[in-house]
Amino acid sequence: MNTEQLKIPQATAKRLPLYYRFLKNLHASGKQRVSSAELSEAVKVDSATIRRDFSYFGALGKKGYGYNVNYLLTFFRKTLDQDEVTKVALIGVGNLGTAFLNYNFIKNNNTKIECAFDVIEDKVGTKVGDVPVYHLDQLEDYMSDDISVAILTVPATVAQQITDRLVNCGIKGILNFTPARLNVPDEIRLHHIDLAVELQSLVYFLKNYPVE
Ligand code: ATP
Repeated sequence: MNTEQLKIPQATAKRLPLYYRFLKNLHASGKQRVSSAELSEAVKVDSATIRRDFSYFGALGKKGYGYNVNYLLTFFRKTLDQDEVTKVALIGVGNLGTAFLNYNFIKNNNTKIECAFDVIEDKVGTKVGDVPVYHLDQLEDYMSDDISVAILTVPATVAQQITDRLVNCGIKGILNFTPARLNVPDEIRLHHIDLAVELQSLVYFLKNYPVE
């Protein structure tokens, strides 16, 4: 994402893909403008936050008119580097990894899983969702310079050692789906998604902060 030169807050940057996806759908349905209230309802972000987010990139919106969909789309496309495909490697072709390989990310985002790695002989040499699966021993051979992101769906016990190898291969970002807390150098961006924790947190909120 080209957000460096814009200096927009990280929390705002994280919401951009959400806005982008919705605006693309609006555009496809022929809508030319959208209000922050409509956007808020669709992406479940409060409208004050949307107005603040949009003000960072000069989309101020007009009272009674809302935002120009084309203007926003052009901005998002540029900012999110939608012209460029980000190549991704996936490590661990288990249940979760297989689901990701079968899910066509490229439909919504310009990210493409190029290759996958596992240690089970039955999986190595196959293709899952059109993505070739290689043996982890071959990680260094297949991690070319243009693969900048890795998805980790391996058992937690091996996550750190694989991470260290990915770092040596020059990876820039890691999406960690394992429960392991990983150590990476400062220049590498690490996002952690622990599905079990997210689910527990949802259940906790439902019990303690019921939606009225
Ligand atoms: P999931 O947690 O995705 O549902 P699972 O329960 O099928 O997967 P796990 O034991 O979590 O299986 O392992 C996920 C995948 O990671 C498996 O396909 C396993 O073969 C693979 N795996 C295990 N160790 C390694 C390793 N060192 N390198 C790469 N892949 C590994």
